[in-house]
Amino acid sequence: MFTKNMSSKIFRAVILGPPAAGKGTISRRILKKFNCDHVAPGDILRLHIEKNTRLGQQAKRYLQEGKLVPDDLVIKLVSSSINEIGNRSWLLDGFPRTEQQARILQHSDPVEFVINLKVSTQLIIDRAKNRWVHLPSGRAYNIGFNEPKIPFKDDLTGEDLIQREDDKPEVLEKRLDIYWKTMQPVLDFYKNLDIVYDFSGKSTDEIYPKIEKFLTERTICCSKAALNKG
Ligand code: AMP
Repeated sequence: MFTKNMSSKIFRAVILGPPAAGKGTISRRILKKFNCDHVAPGDILRLHIEKNTRLGQQAKRYLQEGKLVPDDLVIKLVSSSINEIGNRSWLLDGFPRTEQQARILQHSDPVEFVINLKVSTQLIIDRAKNRWVHLPSGRAYNIGFNEPKIPFKDDLTGEDLIQREDDKPEVLEKRLDIYWKTMQPVLDFYKNLDIVYDFSGKSTDEIYPKIEKFLTERTICCSKAALNKG
């Protein structure tokens, strides 16, 4: 069996997917399995705001208003995170969110492939209705499958689970609309480079093994021709 330590080739990847498509859970599984660093500007920005750093002060109002932080700020943040990582694999989550971000990143630190989660809108809405999350860790549970051991309590901490306001169908539909409007140019940019790999399925448990297989092949084999696309 292929284990974490046998990974020889590093990868530089982006994970894309609409809200509530399972991006967080899939990213966590990738990090657990592969020797790779996770760069999620949203998380880093929230940390800066909590510590009240200069960057945190600059970014705060954008996050509060649900607006994108200006490209120059977020690009600087991601570049310095990538520099710190050095010669290890990385997975970007929540970046790029504009075509300009994608272009600048591709110039400085080329992304090798994009893991694109394809989940139908109806499925996302149905899943979000049944989704309960542990806010501090981001662990998500689903009523009907993947339930917590004790109802409405986090398995690891025993703390309360909540339903996110933005998972409500009317809010979610709006978020999905915004996602497609803003992300289509980013997706098109990567499609033109022929580095987008689509992964579809009805659940994270169905999608994740396909991604694991892809990454396993990717880390031991350099030939793109040898990979299964999709
Ligand atoms: P997230 O946790 O990825 O949903 O991000 C939370 C917030 O951080 C977003 O609403 C934006 O204000 C900001 N943010 C995160 N990533 C980016 C990005 N790539 N470009 C601009 N703003 C971002």
